Amino acid sequence: MSGGVRIIMFGRQGAGKGTQSARLAEHFGVPHISTGEMLRNAVKQDSVVGRAAKSVLDRGELVDDDLMVSLVQGRIGQVDARVAGYVLDGFPRTIAQAAAFDSLTEARPVGFVIDLDVAREIVLVRLSGRRVCESCSTNYTAPENEPKPWICEKCGGSVVQRTDDTEQAINHRLDVYEAQTAPLITFYHGRGALHVVDGVGSPDEVFGRLTSVVNLSK
Ligand code: ADP
Ligand code: ZN
Repeated sequence: MSGGVRIIMFGRQGAGKGTQSARLAEHFGVPHISTGEMLRNAVKQDSVVGRAAKSVLDRGELVDDDLMVSLVQGRIGQVDARVAGYVLDGFPRTIAQAAAFDSLTEARPVGFVIDLDVAREIVLVRLSGRRVCESCSTNYTAPENEPKPWICEKCGGSVVQRTDDTEQAINHRLDVYEAQTAPLITFYHGRGALHVVDGVGSPDEVFGRLTSVVNLSK
């Protein structure tokens, strides 16, 4: 592979994609590029992109393909990603995005496409308890006696439920995933680039499976 570790992570909402992508990025010394995170930051900063995306995010719909492609193009063009590579989390999410990404990365194609596989019934349970730190984005699972207010142990920020983690938006995002994103798994499988990794287990177990896939084929 021509210098760098370039990974695309697929997985249903709640599969653990964000958590595992962050760990993989740290492990391989590459940036973790989460398009959901980029959009949520844009909303927080009330930027032009943020204002355009806020209601789309809250409904659990997909942001416009051209906007997403230009966001990702800008990010992977930065020096850290050009030199070291990246873990791409949340992109591509449609066939149009994947096609655009192919032409952007002709010179440095992606090395690993991973499908972090967790069944819908299981992610639904996980998502109802998903909480996130507003400041540093660390994910948590709500215990039975959920602390209120809940303070992040890493940074002291508030731990809250994401505004798009309502039951309705979650179900909608899962439907959108099956309709628009799951076909991409077939698309990458056809190229022989796909690795399906079982996402059920402790975070350490799943991380071990992921690193062995990347190390074995590197
Ligand atoms: P989840 O996987 O739980 O939906 P993400 O953080 O990956 O969470 O994404 C949150 C939201 O950001 C999505 O529901 C969607 O509205 C928007 N989004 C993120 N990535 C993309 C993308 N590649 N294309 C379109 N919309 C996106
Ligand atoms: Zn925090």
